[in-house]
Amino acid sequence: MVSLELQGVSVAFDGAVVVDAVDLSVEDGHVLAVLGPSGCGKSTLLRAVAGLEPLTSGRIGWDGADLAGVPTHRRGFALMFQDGQLFDHLTVARNIGYARRLQGASRAAVRAEVDDLLDLVGLGGYGGRLPRTLSGGERQRVALARSLAARPRLLLLDEPLSALDAGLRGRLAADLRRILTESGTTALLVTHDQDEAFAVADRLAVMREGRIVQEGPTGSVWAHPADADTALFLGYARVLGPRAATALLGRATGPVALRPAAVLAGPERGDGIPATVRSFRPTPDAGRLVVSVDGVGELDAVGVPGWVAEPGQRVAVRVVEHAIAVLPGAAAEPAGSAP
Ligand code: ADP
Ligand code: MG
Repeated sequence: MVSLELQGVSVAFDGAVVVDAVDLSVEDGHVLAVLGPSGCGKSTLLRAVAGLEPLTSGRIGWDGADLAGVPTHRRGFALMFQDGQLFDHLTVARNIGYARRLQGASRAAVRAEVDDLLDLVGLGGYGGRLPRTLSGGERQRVALARSLAARPRLLLLDEPLSALDAGLRGRLAADLRRILTESGTTALLVTHDQDEAFAVADRLAVMREGRIVQEGPTGSVWAHPADADTALFLGYARVLGPRAATALLGRATGPVALRPAAVLAGPERGDGIPATVRSFRPTPDAGRLVVSVDGVGELDAVGVPGWVAEPGQRVAVRVVEHAIAVLPGAAAEPAGSAP
């Protein structure tokens, strides 16, 4: 069942359109991530849903009812930012229980709820701590628990993990997914970070210059990017036009996007596609190469484990079929095929 529905939502500042005719919906209990580069209008979109930015056109509905004229504090939504914005002078427990106490819940009820929420976010026993004694990741967990404590109908998350370092971000993204799923929370997350979006959301909407350019289940957006820019933004390493793609794959195909590990390189042994090494860089897993493939051009490639290559060396490459995506667009004919 659709809970949140945006139809033709636009927001402009001094005539400059920042959110442009956005259609989106979030189903009850699901998590939608809006993924787009910095400045594309994500925070503005989230603020519009929260009732903090007026729409220039369009409609935002909740359970079928139009939210126009419903002020922020009556929407029943919670907003969580990159820097959790905790009250520094209040303990963790008081931060989390704040909204429920304002709602008039009893002291005992709030204490029990806070304990449950601390367990949910993996911080059991932290209730008496002050925010300044916590790590960045712990603070974001507290901020999340505080957002959930108000029992929002919708949780709005603005780059909730972006301020954390990469390793922690990955772990917390998985936790965030579990926490949202276990608590049955309906959420709209905006982020510029592909990994965060993929780790947390059920569905993904790709945003560019105020518009939604693609929307669908995270897996299918990843597997079938709508165009070259989207593919590169999603983390594909390169896009080949139809001619180069056809030469590489040996069959007629439209443009293709290659993931970073889509091309494997190894010593020349009579099989594979001939190529010349342009550069080789060892990494803890396997060598990373740039190779020039005959008839195709330069590609990134991953070396066979333990193998070291020199620039100029002739090698053989092969394509990992599940690591490529065919993009919409006309196919080229294989070279040498009948006209
Ligand atoms: P994102 O969150 O994707 O980085 P934002 O929604 O914050 O993007 O901003 C989108 C564009 O709108 C930017 O060009 C930004 O400068 C502009 N913008 C955001 N808020 C305002 C505002 N209150 N007044 C004028 N311009 C704004
Ligand atoms: Mg933003």
